[in-house]
Amino acid sequence: MKKQNIQSQKKILIANRGEIAARVAKAILEMGHIPVGFFTDSEPNAYHLAFCQEWIYLSGNTHQETYLNIEKIVSLAKEHKIEAVHPGYGFLSENTLFAKALEEKGIIFIGPNPKSILLMGDKAISKQEALKAKIPVVPGPDNPIHTKEEALSVAKEIGFPVLLKAVAGGGGRGMRICHTSEDVLKNFETVQREALSSFGKADLLLEKYIQNPRHIEVQVVGDKHGKVVHFFERECSIQRRHQKIIEEAPSPFVGEDQKLRHNICETAVRLAKHVGYDSAGTVEFIMGEDRSFYFLEMNTRIQVEHPITEEITGVDLVSLMIEIAFGAPLPFQSQEEITLRGHSIECRICVEHPFTFLPSPGTITATSWKQYPGIRFDHCLYSGLVVAPDFDPMLGKMIATSLTREKAIKKMKMALSALFIEGVFSNISLLLFVLGEEDFLKGNFSTHYLEQKILKRPKEELENLFDQSKETFLSLLEKSLAIECSFSNN
Ligand code: ADP
Ligand code: ADP
Ligand code: MG
Repeated sequence: MKKQNIQSQKKILIANRGEIAARVAKAILEMGHIPVGFFTDSEPNAYHLAFCQEWIYLSGNTHQETYLNIEKIVSLAKEHKIEAVHPGYGFLSENTLFAKALEEKGIIFIGPNPKSILLMGDKAISKQEALKAKIPVVPGPDNPIHTKEEALSVAKEIGFPVLLKAVAGGGGRGMRICHTSEDVLKNFETVQREALSSFGKADLLLEKYIQNPRHIEVQVVGDKHGKVVHFFERECSIQRRHQKIIEEAPSPFVGEDQKLRHNICETAVRLAKHVGYDSAGTVEFIMGEDRSFYFLEMNTRIQVEHPITEEITGVDLVSLMIEIAFGAPLPFQSQEEITLRGHSIECRICVEHPFTFLPSPGTITATSWKQYPGIRFDHCLYSGLVVAPDFDPMLGKMIATSLTREKAIKKMKMALSALFIEGVFSNISLLLFVLGEEDFLKGNFSTHYLEQKILKRPKEELENLFDQSKETFLSLLEKSLAIECSFSNN
């Protein structure tokens, strides 16, 4: 690595868009560096550009031609004398070739070294590494399965239900549960085809499907001097289509069990150390009803839900990630210096139908929200925003923090009730429903929560339910406007 002067001002390019590009730009600005953003033909007025100090035109119409085009991005970075690139999440954030291509041009990739991306990026290789580090993994072979006959014999050996999973999958895609031999035979080639078209690699893993599990993950940060620390766990069990929708820290399931907390966090640190991890990353686990946990995957990037960890630990993970990329050591003498206080919840605001979960692309014709104490809104929303079908339907994250889970939920309800998005469907009414639901309030749920509470209900009941929440929401909005008017009259 080239020796860097950590103090001097640097031009840092954000190779991403949406809420994460704005989040990263704010961190760069605060550190006194120069945030540089991309603008494209499809998003000339992107929200993140307002937080940048320099702008680069990224030509092209598709993701392949723009945010996924390694050659184009690296050559633009070189041309504009960029010293470091932050990849955000998604796009090229977990791409070894991108990290290497930047490194070859003397530009810093703000992320882990290419070798640890390589070891953790593929679900089969990462499972093998976890086994080497003596970390519990989900039962099933650690090598890809190539034929349906092989899949069938493995499934019978480990016992149904099983999960077919693309080794290169992500974002909850490329996965299928199989309850019977027929399911395996029927799904095998379909998942292979989907994996090839979505992720460029047809290899599949087959593993035991853990019943009624919780998704619990640990935030880790390593530096380039061999030190790794954790920032406690996050619970991400409220999911639709295997994708998170509400996350919280700490996990209500781990609760006051400090031994379990210590154990899962130390396991994550051990894996990160094993692969020589040197940036911010997340080790994901699936936890059974008996509290035994198994390694799922490692995300070698900043994660969508990082803010809740920032809120309970008081550490700016994005700034830390940037400092580390320039060679700074972790600013902690020991793990004990990182402490946890209170409770934080994140709700992902998506433009999608509240109960079919189908994306709802279109134009945001009006939007408004309110600032309350303990509320943070990381987003890319503005009136006039066109949400294209091939763009991420997640437009923001409402984050509520307080001393207790109950209080954080109350704050979240207040903030969501004052968030207004017109012109497209949004999942706000679904989020409000969950925040008022008994089992959620008790912390009594698994990754099947939405399936059990929502998808199992008859359509008419759902329509009724969400109409009602919509009414509650609208009447709340009217009330809040009335309060505002009465203030301005005073
Ligand atoms: P997180 O693990 O940070 O919660 P998600 O799984 O929700 O993240 O993914 C974050 C974003 O990155 C989503 O917009 C998702 O579509 C995208 N993404 C994640 N992994 C991949 C991948 N392998 N290929 C393409 N997009 C991905
Ligand atoms: P992705 O890369 O798409 O995030 P993951 O392996 O992290 O893929 O899995 C996404 C989600 O799918 C998990 O959060 C969990 O809900 C579910 N899942 C994955 N593997 C299993 C499993 N073996 N048993 C039960 N659920 C699983
Ligand atoms: Mg995952």
